[in-house]
Amino acid sequence: MSSALQQYRITPNSTTSSVAVPITPTPDYVAQLNSLVHSQEVLASTGYIVKELSDEDLESKKRCSGCGIQMLRLQKNEKRNEKRNEQRNNKKKDKEHAQDEGNLERACAVSVSSSSSDTSSDGPVSHGVALPNSTPRMRCKFHSGWLHLKAWSCCGKNPTDPPCVQREYHIPRSDVSGETERLWQHHPTKIGQTQFSHRAAVAIDCEMGTTMSNDSELIRVTLLDYFSGQVLIDKLVWPDVPMLHLNTRFSGIRWPDLHNARRKRSCLFGRDNARAAVLKFIGPSTIVVGHSAHNDLTSLRWIHHRIVDTYILESALKEAAEKAVTESPQKTPVEPTTVSDTSPKNADGGQKRPKGRGLLSLKTLSKVKLGREIQVGRNGHDSIEDALAARDLVHVYLTSEDNRAVHEILDEEIRSMAT
Ligand SMILES: [Zn+2]
Ligand SMILES: [Zn+2]
Repeated sequence: MSSALQQYRITPNSTTSSVAVPITPTPDYVAQLNSLVHSQEVLASTGYIVKELSDEDLESKKRCSGCGIQMLRLQKNEKRNEKRNEQRNNKKKDKEHAQDEGNLERACAVSVSSSSSDTSSDGPVSHGVALPNSTPRMRCKFHSGWLHLKAWSCCGKNPTDPPCVQREYHIPRSDVSGETERLWQHHPTKIGQTQFSHRAAVAIDCEMGTTMSNDSELIRVTLLDYFSGQVLIDKLVWPDVPMLHLNTRFSGIRWPDLHNARRKRSCLFGRDNARAAVLKFIGPSTIVVGHSAHNDLTSLRWIHHRIVDTYILESALKEAAEKAVTESPQKTPVEPTTVSDTSPKNADGGQKRPKGRGLLSLKTLSKVKLGREIQVGRNGHDSIEDALAARDLVHVYLTSEDNRAVHEILDEEIRSMAT
């Protein structure tokens, strides 16, 4: 470990708010940081979008013109139902098969003991073949009107009454203006020459609100220089889609803040401008550090391939530790992180993994590994604090001998996560 690294020490159990301590980018340190960059397979399997969305992907982002649910979600539900039905049918078949065998045995016993041949009773039944169902299954149910004076305008029924329109299939909304592409397409970092403004490594954190169509939408973006800790961007983002709420409890952002920023024109306008602001500092070789950063990149509709994600690192560490315990119960886990809750992330990032809860959360990791309390109080997250915590976790990982000792196991673990 070079002496330059030793100068940076995070004081254990210090509960003071986070202050960025500069890290010297020695060749050794930069090489170590580079070695943590995840493969595209790992990124793809942990919720990152690694290539531009295909026409099919975009189609699945459309919503049903009737019930308004996203086609992707409907497809997933349909698949889940099919699987459940198949399992149920298989169980039924097994049960009937067992019954048939029982019947057959009984029938044989009867025919041996008696010459009578009564075949009408207890004969084998349907073998699980469902009778054709004459009424089609109605998948799409909705009210075609709107709620007015506590009644649906379409049918006059109460708000909680069952939908008055039913269709056999969902029909995606037509998209003549290319809105789906505009809303959902992801844009890769430009390949080309490194500019003077491009940083070697940055840490990112974004805050999101919820749109009227129940999607996550960028409302604040924060970017730090990994080495100097300098705040490169910390701006509110005025969303260019109708919003349901700002998720204030977690985002810490209120409407007056946003309106104020818009009036002063101190915010960024829309996610495309936010992405453009971020990309000023990002070249093709820039390493982006974050915690569950697929959510942040998705909120910017941004594709970047050089990522170090502390959630992925910590998941792998935890799995390696668990494996060490299983394989050799008398051995101490390789990494005594007291985390014990994880499951593979949802590949489309649909299931949001909050950074503020759970044992692999940034909040817990920051407390356990950095001795630093973050996300305290009622004001929600502070993106600067969160981005800095992710950066410092990576730094601890790179400078702690314990962590480096498991580097090889970790490599293998991370590789296996992608398969
Ligand atoms: Zn109705
Ligand atoms: Zn529908």
